[in-house]
Amino acid sequence: PDARELDGLGALVRAVPDYPTPGVTFRDITPLLADAVAFNGAVDSLADLVAHHGPVDTVAGMEARGFVLGAALAVRLGVGFVPLRKAGKLPPPVESVTYDLEYGSATLEVRTGTVSPGSRVLIVDDVLATGGTAAAAVSLVGACGGDVVGAAFLLELDGLGGRDALSGLVVDSLLTVG
Ligand code: AMP
Repeated sequence: PDARELDGLGALVRAVPDYPTPGVTFRDITPLLADAVAFNGAVDSLADLVAHHGPVDTVAGMEARGFVLGAALAVRLGVGFVPLRKAGKLPPPVESVTYDLEYGSATLEVRTGTVSPGSRVLIVDDVLATGGTAAAAVSLVGACGGDVVGAAFLLELDGLGGRDALSGLVVDSLLTVG
């Protein structure tokens, strides 16, 4: 995508100061998703961005906004989609991984058998912040025997250490904000 197109996408991501807690600037992608041209353009651009991986077998997306972008990207790539869900949403059997948050912890789960051993899996989410969620997704897919080829994000928040938390993994982001 050219710089003008990226600026147009960025303009449709709303920065909401002090949400959900004071000091956090929430990046709301719903205006972008609601815009037909922008949503399609973003998915096309993500597909171009990850093309360097060569063929992937599956896209795995994190609940909940990773479902929207990940499923759209999976359709665009012609591959299947695996939802990585918050605890207690998927019926058993599941594999799960618990990871630390700034306050407390969270759990991601995947339906046993949906990630084929040896399959090439691309992890997708809307926003890369500290990288904790994506690192958990990497370990969950890895625990299922999947080969994580990389992670792709619509928006990377620079300066929060996300890339460092995913060191060794190829990370692609369509947009970056400081
Ligand atoms: P992290 O684990 O810190 O990289 O956080 C990434 C996850 O939290 C993603 O699933 C995002 O949807 C969400 N997230 C974290 N920070 C923000 C933010 N500032 N705006 C919107 N979503 C965020």
